[in-house]
Amino acid sequence: MTDQAAPNQNTVLVTGATSGIGRAVALGFARNNYAVAINGFGQENETSAILDELKASGATKAIHVPSDMSQAGDIETLISTTQEQLGSIDVLINNAGIQYTSLVEDFPAQKWDQVIAINLTSAFHTIRLALPMMKARNFGRIINIASVHGLVGSVQKAAYVAAKHGIIGLTKVVALESAEQNITANSVCPGWVLTPLVEAQLQANAKRDNVSSEQAVHNLLLEKQPSLRFVPLDELSQLCLFLASPGASSINGAALPIDGGWTAR
Ligand code: NAD
Repeated sequence: MTDQAAPNQNTVLVTGATSGIGRAVALGFARNNYAVAINGFGQENETSAILDELKASGATKAIHVPSDMSQAGDIETLISTTQEQLGSIDVLINNAGIQYTSLVEDFPAQKWDQVIAINLTSAFHTIRLALPMMKARNFGRIINIASVHGLVGSVQKAAYVAAKHGIIGLTKVVALESAEQNITANSVCPGWVLTPLVEAQLQANAKRDNVSSEQAVHNLLLEKQPSLRFVPLDELSQLCLFLASPGASSINGAALPIDGGWTAR
């Protein structure tokens, strides 16, 4: 029997939360009165504005730890600082990620290493460091922001697709190893979400195809996402909140598409 009612399950760490999906997810947890730790790059005035927004939204505490997720030593600091300042990490959301596009034969080895480090290896480090405390508390929710590219491939995204398939595999192993301690680990697999990461690809596509930015958006969605709309940030934040909730206690090791039908084809 596991104890579903461990005390104070209300602390969350979201990596890469100074922008896009991570920021929206952190805000969702703030609105539900979690103590929130965010990580990610940004100017000091930008990160302090996000912390103010988190507190104004209902976070009982909000801290920013500026670790570089490509560096194992920095990640140790991120986990120890968060545990010290929040008291625990009940919900760990591995979200930090980057993209780089190139054909495999032209893919710079250094870019491959960087994408794998930030999109995959960082989650191995956060999980291995956070798990002992989760196991000691008999509670934990690990949510890895993977991608549809953890389920299917696309051209010119070798490192990203490899990292995202890898994080889904890592998630399954963690789920199996921790299931008896009331810990779940799941992957969230978004389709296109309009964030700076995708805006950069849209700009590149518009330039390559010599089309307007509106046409580039239409082409991007038409190619992959049957809903023909971006996945709203709020829907991602709601899915993460659900996975952290008692109602999701039996969802473990899953890879959940939230992709407007992309992977139904
Ligand atoms: P984004 O570019 O808006 O945000 C990325 C975040 O990661 C930022 O906070 C940035 O500072 C942080 N980051 C990048 N490198 C870092 C490093 N070395 N150390 C610490 N932080 C670092 O991107 P996004 O679209 O919000 O993407 C978030 C996650 O969602 C990524 O893992 C991405 O692969 C995934 N995802 C995005 C989409 C999409 O369409 N936008 C779709 C599927 C999956």
